[in-house]
Amino acid sequence: MDVAIVGGGFTGLWTARELKRRDPSLRICVLEKSVCGFGASGRNGGWASALFPISDQILVARYGMDRFTHQRHVLERSVGELGESARADRIDAHFSQGGTVVVARNEVQAQRLRASVEQSRQLGVAESDFAWLEKSEADQRATLSNSLGATYTPHCARIHPARLVRGLSDVDESLGVQIFEDTHVTRILPGTRGRQPEVVTVGGSIHADFVVRATEGFTPTLPGERRTVAPFYSLMIATEPLPDSFWDEVGFAHHETFADDRRLIIYGQRTKDNRFAFGGRGASYHFGSTVEQRFDSDSRVFSMLEAILRELFPTLNGAITYHWGGPLAMPRDQMPSVLVDFDTGMASAGGYTGDGVVLSRVASIALADLLTSPDTDTDFTRLPFVQHHSRRWEVEPLRWLGINSAIRLATMADRTEQRRGVDGRASRWYERLASAGSDSRPDPSRDA
Ligand SMILES: Cc1cc2nc3c(=O)[nH]c(=O)nc-3n(C[C@H](O)[C@H](O)[C@H](O)COP(=O)(O)OP(=O)(O)OC[C@H]3O[C@@H](n4cnc5c(N)ncnc54)[C@H](O)[C@@H]3O)c2cc1C
Repeated sequence: MDVAIVGGGFTGLWTARELKRRDPSLRICVLEKSVCGFGASGRNGGWASALFPISDQILVARYGMDRFTHQRHVLERSVGELGESARADRIDAHFSQGGTVVVARNEVQAQRLRASVEQSRQLGVAESDFAWLEKSEADQRATLSNSLGATYTPHCARIHPARLVRGLSDVDESLGVQIFEDTHVTRILPGTRGRQPEVVTVGGSIHADFVVRATEGFTPTLPGERRTVAPFYSLMIATEPLPDSFWDEVGFAHHETFADDRRLIIYGQRTKDNRFAFGGRGASYHFGSTVEQRFDSDSRVFSMLEAILRELFPTLNGAITYHWGGPLAMPRDQMPSVLVDFDTGMASAGGYTGDGVVLSRVASIALADLLTSPDTDTDFTRLPFVQHHSRRWEVEPLRWLGINSAIRLATMADRTEQRRGVDGRASRWYERLASAGSDSRPDPSRDA
């Protein structure tokens, strides 16, 4: 079997790795328009977490308790397995599983986080998997300003994403995967009866039994894919290495990843060389799902991130030495997908929103299982997002209006919650818009 993979990020490279693990004789190539790791995989916040873009409640409503619990266990297990797999491949990705602390920094956040812990108990999640920590306990792990307590889960590791993705591309090459960097795919043509699918590049074409599209946030730049996912920009900053005296004061002794519970997502980690790498949303969505390199920088968002980081840690004196960002992919129903069409030879995996580090590996295992043993049911092919079809995004200008309104409302809701300690009108409108996005209607692809 010949497989052509478009995109040299975690999804593409892990898929190649998993296929070779199952059958070393497979002929596999990866086509990457820039260098492997150029996309989100080389630039993310390094949370290797068991997070999923859709809430537990919606998952249970759509798929039932058993399938929700199965998925939760697979994702939780997969955090440690990612570390083991990197170690086995001799990739030093700075993996350190210290869990995640999400701090409540005002009353509304505290109520929301306590409620999320209570709800998770009703869904069978144990205290050892997700717990509320009172302020004194939370401060021992991570001391953020104005903390009222925090949630803690052990199911997250800190990684260095660029080291992992570059390491993976070396491993793939050593296994005989042909990697073509600097190779821009301009079209992917489905196969028909008697004709294999085809990948068209600027320099020529490739035919294979299967073509895997692993282009995530760049997907809308391919013909016919503009409404498949919406490219959201997430931006990051990093400090200079900070002194031991600072870390003695603020904690993170086990490299816990951290956030607070504001609506406009933020995420941070202590890097191996003792910097903060810190990121967040807030950059605008660009009309027509446009993806351009100049959107990777936004001075307004970088200033906002620096202000938030200094507010979280008032004694932080270090300079901000790096700024960067990139696109991730959000499907209309926020559900990732792994798709294989055996009639046309077309396959894809993605739509992880901001949770793709572990999810891309899980998706790649499911994809490799499907491609090599289509009739065998595995832990991975049984996941609810396998063979899930998300509906397409609305046409413009509705897409632009809806997404940017949600970003605006999230910012306004955070301000109200911070200033007045109440969840005002902006919070309620944000909730409505967000739940309309994730769409809790039963999925037509749900098993009978
Ligand atoms: C700033 C930021 C922070 C994030 N933080 C986290 C985090 O902490 N934890 C987490 O779980 N997730 C995080 N994410 C999301 C996560 O990084 C992604 O979900 C994941 O890396 C997706 O991997 P991928 O291989 O599917 O896509 P990508 O890594 O984006 O790879 C796609 C590749 O396809 C290539 N490509 C695109 N079009 C073409 C074409 N036409 N021809 C050839 N090649 C093409 C691109 O150059 C790119 O290398 C973050 C994302 C960003 C942007």
